[in-house]
Amino acid sequence: MRVPFLNLERLHADLDAELSEAFSKVLAKQAFIKGSEVDGFEREFATWTTSDFAIGTSNGLDALTLALRSLNVGPGDQVVMPANTFIATALAVSQLGAQPVLVDVCPDTALMNPVKLHDALGPSTKVVVPVHLYGQACGMTSISELARACGASIVEDNAQAQGASWDGKFTGSWGDLSATSFYPGKNLGALGDAGAVTTSQRHLAQKVRELGNYGSLEKYNHTSKGANMRLDELQAAFLRVKLPHLHRWNEMRQTVAARYGELLSDVAEITLPWTDPEATHVYHLYVVVTPKRDELASWLDACGVSTLVHYPKCIHEHKAYQELNHMAGGFPVSERLARQSLSLPMHPFLTSSEQEYVAESIKRFFGRQS
Ligand SMILES: *Cc1c(COP(=O)(O)O)cnc(C)c1O
Repeated sequence: MRVPFLNLERLHADLDAELSEAFSKVLAKQAFIKGSEVDGFEREFATWTTSDFAIGTSNGLDALTLALRSLNVGPGDQVVMPANTFIATALAVSQLGAQPVLVDVCPDTALMNPVKLHDALGPSTKVVVPVHLYGQACGMTSISELARACGASIVEDNAQAQGASWDGKFTGSWGDLSATSFYPGKNLGALGDAGAVTTSQRHLAQKVRELGNYGSLEKYNHTSKGANMRLDELQAAFLRVKLPHLHRWNEMRQTVAARYGELLSDVAEITLPWTDPEATHVYHLYVVVTPKRDELASWLDACGVSTLVHYPKCIHEHKAYQELNHMAGGFPVSERLARQSLSLPMHPFLTSSEQEYVAESIKRFFGRQS
């Protein structure tokens, strides 16, 4: 048996006709930028995330950059984020000439550790960026309190957790702004690059819209030196077909995760994902932890099971961030997770027999008969 990591073919199979129709509709109108599909998607996505405003963007990195720029982040400012995240979180900060300040994460959730956040906050902290990594919501109550107490804003990196919640409130609605990605493999994926910023503050929404549209809200009247970071009509039309299915897909991911939990509960050699009782988890990724990570990954590969590592290096371990001058051991939890985490195949349409095969293969690696 071969178990791919992700199966977009199955996800899109049922939507084939609708997606083609969406394409034809845009083609018939011959309007590809700033039209009714983008407007419609922005309204629908704002409602979906319980935010007042959503602004479509070209991708998740640009969404992060625009969110930070709308808060006037620039040279001399510090932006606090977890040490284990996708590089985009840090790049958005660097692009604006500000400094990423890393904090370690909690060992059981791999999410920003509020105690470490507290230590990292200071007079130069402009923004805190909690990353809802793997699909689990961060501890937003304490993160919000800490940020507010030092006068910092919050921009959520919600690229992996659309539909998750903390204390009953959706990710993407906690921060001053939130950035998300519709990279094809994300829980809500476009058929290409796309992203969005959400906020409930009108002036920030306007600022994001202006900055992402050449610094202009009105044609040929440029009020700031913006950029072109817009969502286009085709991707918006595709996203409108997929958005109504997102809650169901997230539930299917949760079912898949629960099934992994049952199948792997007696394998003491691996640590399964843990969800805080106040959080929900939408399992963008299903990440297990084992000191034998590399050996297990090769074994599974030989068995036909595709796995990935999210992420094999912390931010400060990349050559691109040598300038941060962090010594090895500075972020022990993040660094250990980079060596020991393994993401198992995860998508809404993973079958029980595929999961049983994955679990059996893992058990055979650890010398269990199943
Ligand atoms: C995917 C992702 C991004 C960037 O999104 P793109 O659309 O690929 O630019 C940012 N942060 C995190 C945590 C991500 O997973």
